[in-house]
Amino acid sequence: MMQMDIAQNEFLKPYNSFGVAAEARYFMRVRREDELIQIFGNPDWEQQSKLVLGGGTNMLFVDNFNGLLLKMDIPGIRSTKNGLKVLVSAGAGVLWNDLVGYCVNHGFAGIENMALIPGTAGAAPVQNIGAYGVELMDVFDSCRAFDTHRKEMVSLKKADCGFAYRDSIFKHQEKNRYIVTEISLMLSLHPIIHSDYGAIQAELEARGISHPGIKDMAEVVSHIRLAKLPDPSTIGNAGSFFKNPIIPQVLFEELNRRFPEIVHYPAGEGLVKLAAGWLIEYCGWKGKRLGAVGTWKNQALVLVNHGGASGREIYQFSAAIMEDVKNTFGIQLEREVNVIGALD
Ligand SMILES: Cc1cc2nc3c(=O)[nH]c(=O)nc-3n(C[C@H](O)[C@H](O)[C@H](O)COP(=O)(O)OP(=O)(O)OC[C@H]3O[C@@H](n4cnc5c(N)ncnc54)[C@H](O)[C@@H]3O)c2cc1C
Repeated sequence: MMQMDIAQNEFLKPYNSFGVAAEARYFMRVRREDELIQIFGNPDWEQQSKLVLGGGTNMLFVDNFNGLLLKMDIPGIRSTKNGLKVLVSAGAGVLWNDLVGYCVNHGFAGIENMALIPGTAGAAPVQNIGAYGVELMDVFDSCRAFDTHRKEMVSLKKADCGFAYRDSIFKHQEKNRYIVTEISLMLSLHPIIHSDYGAIQAELEARGISHPGIKDMAEVVSHIRLAKLPDPSTIGNAGSFFKNPIIPQVLFEELNRRFPEIVHYPAGEGLVKLAAGWLIEYCGWKGKRLGAVGTWKNQALVLVNHGGASGREIYQFSAAIMEDVKNTFGIQLEREVNVIGALD
């Protein structure tokens, strides 16, 4: 059996975009699928609790992790063309934005609107990442994953993954069961451009582009994101902290009578999506700061670590926002970020 390189008491500050101080009791980089097979088949490590980490850009450590942390570093991108379609596969450790860059440079269309979403390819299915009118599920074909129950590699098709808005089986029904090692996306050599967002149209117009290609879209989206969102390398954050609530039409109509300016979008038959950022801003939290924790000055949906905040402080701040939104609108916000650790 090959020697496994497992570190002890690894400091996790560099591995989470909130930049909170936490430690993992054991830490291992996973560069190949067979390393997972080995570790889960090893009696010394079998009973140890495990946590899978990608780029740590959607995680909040409220505590140290007292088990084995598996940092996914499986590399590699490959593609196979078939007519006007192309199947692109990426190792779990590939940075999502590197995958977007690869696809845009090769003329493979479908993920350009998701340029600059931080994190790894392997984590992309977990919350069905999305931005500017496109979600991973729109292009997802399948993934390879290690099934920790059956202790073998499996292939999961799109229909197996239970994708929904910022959701999948990996986040709920089958949480902690599968470790994604590779994702495969079905992209197109014949692009369909999604440019109907106001901010995208304005930026295309400012650049004098009337018929954008996928490269234009990736550049414009990146430009908008850089202006709107805080850069985690400068100020700790995990992007949107909460999901946008989806509520029944009848409930929305009642709210709309009390709050005529409430920001909302259609969300399918009989459902309305509310902008969580607007609800939070309405309650007076935009740009607010308590100690080292605050909301971002340009977007109340993004919680930031101004420096030295603990995971618990960020969690408590988020709880205060949730309570305020609940009292004002009767809406229960749900955290998008994965909270790691006990909160007693
Ligand atoms: C500035 C900023 C902007 C953002 N904008 C967006 C956005 O526009 N849209 C959007 O959808 N998200 C956005 N996010 C959130 C984040 O980028 C995504 O959720 C991303 O997919 C997280 O990837 P990661 O590798 O960092 O995952 P991590 O944070 O490491 O992990 C997230 C979850 O996935 C699990 N996981 C990680 N890798 C695997 C794997 N290989 N197999 C199984 N489970 C795994 C982890 O255990 C954890 O539960 C943003 C974050 C930041 C900081």
